[in-house]
Amino acid sequence: MPKWYLLHALLTGTFRENTTMTLTTTSSLLSDLHCSQCGSTHNAFVRQTLSSCCQAPLLCQYTIDVGSVLKAGLVTRTKSLWRYEELLPVIQPENQISLGEGFTPLLTLNRLADTYSFRHLTLKDEGLNPTGSFKARGLCMAISKAKELGEQACIIPTAGNAGVAMAAYCARAGLEAVVVMPRHTPDAFKEECIGYNANLIQVDGLINDCAAKVQELNQQGAYFDVSTLKEPYRLEGKKTMGYEIAEQLNWQLPDVIMYPTGGGTGLIGIWKAFHEMKALGWLAKEQRLPRMVAVQAENCAPVVDTYLGKQINSKQYIGKPTLANGLAVPRPIGEPLMMSVLRESGGTAIAVSEDDMLEGVSELCRHEGIFAAPEGGAIWAATKKLLHQGWLQPDEHVLLLNTGSGQKYLDNIKGKWHR
Ligand SMILES: *Cc1c(COP(=O)(O)O)cnc(C)c1O
Ligand SMILES: [Zn+2]
Repeated sequence: MPKWYLLHALLTGTFRENTTMTLTTTSSLLSDLHCSQCGSTHNAFVRQTLSSCCQAPLLCQYTIDVGSVLKAGLVTRTKSLWRYEELLPVIQPENQISLGEGFTPLLTLNRLADTYSFRHLTLKDEGLNPTGSFKARGLCMAISKAKELGEQACIIPTAGNAGVAMAAYCARAGLEAVVVMPRHTPDAFKEECIGYNANLIQVDGLINDCAAKVQELNQQGAYFDVSTLKEPYRLEGKKTMGYEIAEQLNWQLPDVIMYPTGGGTGLIGIWKAFHEMKALGWLAKEQRLPRMVAVQAENCAPVVDTYLGKQINSKQYIGKPTLANGLAVPRPIGEPLMMSVLRESGGTAIAVSEDDMLEGVSELCRHEGIFAAPEGGAIWAATKKLLHQGWLQPDEHVLLLNTGSGQKYLDNIKGKWHR
């Protein structure tokens, strides 16, 4: 009998009476997967990719209700994203492959707030995650699940950070890693992958060209394909940012969240987390949720163009490289989900220039001592722009997600500091 069957039996309690089996389980409340397009149910205990019904992303569902997990119990938990283990998909504790990801600091930006007449600016610094970006959250979950499902090897198309994170967690889990990356990615990303003993393949083009290469290499399905939203678990890792934001702000959510958007997992994940917390009773049902803002680079802004009605969708979008490598995703598969989040939350989408994001990086460095990735520079640039346009009010609480450390991007930033 395959292992997942035992796990499922254990989880649903059908095995308990007459067995002496002693598998330890976490208290994960995972029940099944739902197709994000038609809502049909799929098995959460076998390898899955896009839904078989609609070729759409699958979303993890949990058996939760008000009181299933008490937020008061959180205080004593481990200071990593695993503190929310009931709401995560890993069933056996020994499959939690961890490098200490998550529970990153929430910093108040007093000096920038004063300079630009904001009342309340905070920044969640995801650059402090293992491997220097928030991709660690998603990849620790996907690789933990790959191990749990008995996979031997994983493959990923990446703009940089996701590949590095996958390589690190695969090394820690003892799995083989294949990373497919654009040739123009800064060396720091490539070297780190090689250090983790990944098989690094370089492709001329952007992440969609890398995705085509992955398909070609994985025709036989030998690898667990960890492409954004083509498996259900990276999203679960990324959603923990939403849980942390709520917990760290003592359950008082900000008015606006600025999110640098590529494939959109964070945007979708945070929104999913807010809804799960309402179901759990951690947030009041009537609690107003933050307006979610998708920030992109002018060089590659498919989500902005679709949101503003300049195109029906981004299926034909042609993007150019940007200094913010993580934002160069011309045809994100999660676009319909992102549109729902932006509309439901009353948010917006905005693009910034390469020069504006460099100025953003410089200002975060100079005024606050934070060396953000260009993606982080982009959200600060976008925040100023939205204030200028009157979309943001100076007295609103704006939360910036700096998704990565600037240290990997030295090739992109060198000699371009704004003074
Ligand atoms: C990947 C990446 C993003 C975009 O994240 P998505 O979840 O793909 O939208 C933003 N910033 C950095 C630093 C990244 O590596
Ligand atoms: Zn479907």
